[in-house]
Amino acid sequence: MTKQVIIIGGGASGMIAGISARRQGAKVIILERNPRVGKKLLATGNGRCNFTNINANVNCYNGNNPKFVYGALTAFSVEETLRFFKKMGIQYKIEDFGRVYPMSDQASSVLDVLLYELNQLGVEIICNAYVTDVSKKNNKFLVQTEDGKVYEGDRVILTTGGKAMPSSGSDGNGIELAKKLGHTSTVLFPALVQLMLEGPYFKRLSGVKFVGKAEVIYQNKSIAQDKGDILFTNYGISGPPILQISRKAGELLNSKKEVYLKVSIMDGMSMIELKELIKERIRLNGSKPVDFSFVGLINKRLIPVVLAEAGIKNFNRPVSGLSNSEIESITRILLDWRFPIRGTKGWTSAQVTAGGINTKEINPNTMESILVKGLFFAGEILDIDGLCGGYNLQWSWSSGFTAGLNASW
Ligand SMILES: Cc1cc2nc3c(=O)[nH]c(=O)nc-3n(C[C@H](O)[C@H](O)[C@H](O)COP(=O)(O)OP(=O)(O)OC[C@H]3O[C@@H](n4cnc5c(N)ncnc54)[C@H](O)[C@@H]3O)c2cc1C
Repeated sequence: MTKQVIIIGGGASGMIAGISARRQGAKVIILERNPRVGKKLLATGNGRCNFTNINANVNCYNGNNPKFVYGALTAFSVEETLRFFKKMGIQYKIEDFGRVYPMSDQASSVLDVLLYELNQLGVEIICNAYVTDVSKKNNKFLVQTEDGKVYEGDRVILTTGGKAMPSSGSDGNGIELAKKLGHTSTVLFPALVQLMLEGPYFKRLSGVKFVGKAEVIYQNKSIAQDKGDILFTNYGISGPPILQISRKAGELLNSKKEVYLKVSIMDGMSMIELKELIKERIRLNGSKPVDFSFVGLINKRLIPVVLAEAGIKNFNRPVSGLSNSEIESITRILLDWRFPIRGTKGWTSAQVTAGGINTKEINPNTMESILVKGLFFAGEILDIDGLCGGYNLQWSWSSGFTAGLNASW
């Protein structure tokens, strides 16, 4: 008998679940609280939608049990995803680090083809439908929306996302719906997010960019590191390497631990090499004022801050007068500058939610709840989050497709 599938949440995972369930012959309704589906998708990849990564594998994911992704990632792999989108019209290109974008460089084109396919298949999309309750009676699910309507289905797929970017409609309320059905959630915290640092200089440093290395330091050990374009801001620090390592910081901050950020502005050089280089520059131009002698080596706006941090007060004296220990202090700051991390920029700035519905309660091969038969989950609502670079959307596609397929019979 044809199954009625109700999908709660019209984001990436909800839309693909709708396509896969309908292709298998199920009747499908997507309920979306916003006036239109796919709001967050439009914001992805800076509006270009980094929709997958050719390097995606289990090791690119976090959560209490990252291996959970294996089933769905195998069933609907990166290759399948590329084929799926190409068939719908998304010509793609592979950029640095295996990041995949549509040739059009427009996230809206990804949304357009998904919507076209949903419409072609006859999936019913109901917008402005905020689901406030889900219950199960006599093998049927009753899904109630804020306006008092009740939808009856044989299967429900919860794809309401996490808490990141609440303006997109995902504010964590779906996790509460799942809890009412007996599920539990791990602790949630923002990930792929900028970091707020402690220090007196950030207003002055705001806007300074450098290509370097960033590390999260806990108990004097480096526990996460990444390299690339880093940007000082008026609250602390941003840039792809910061987002990439932010999860470790967030996790520790969540349990009230003291965590530090280390930046290496002159990454790639050893202490000895950098010290020698500074000394060489002093030998060549010893009469230059201290601050001017660093022009051409580091960003000009960094110079007074680095010198002040190194305890150097008079910047106008000839650089040849710098003592060995002053040169050492400057060298240390350029290679190992540490700041206490005060927090993350929070849900409004985060790209993904760390934590979610406990994956122990879900069958990894079907995405069906182990606790409530006929209830399925997909996407960011689950306790799975990926690295920056297309991995989170891949998780939405893999888990969403798998959930839709298995909910259809
Ligand atoms: C700025 C930004 C950029 C990003 N860039 C990338 C990128 O380039 N590549 C990448 O892989 N990942 C990226 N991500 C992450 C990725 O977008 C998400 O992980 C993914 O979209 C999650 O999909 P989802 O379907 O699980 O949830 P969402 O996309 O959050 O969709 C959930 C939907 O459910 C709806 N909803 C919620 N509650 C209810 C309710 N009670 N009733 C009805 N509807 C409800 C919401 O309105 C929303 O439309 C980015 C995220 C952000 C915020």
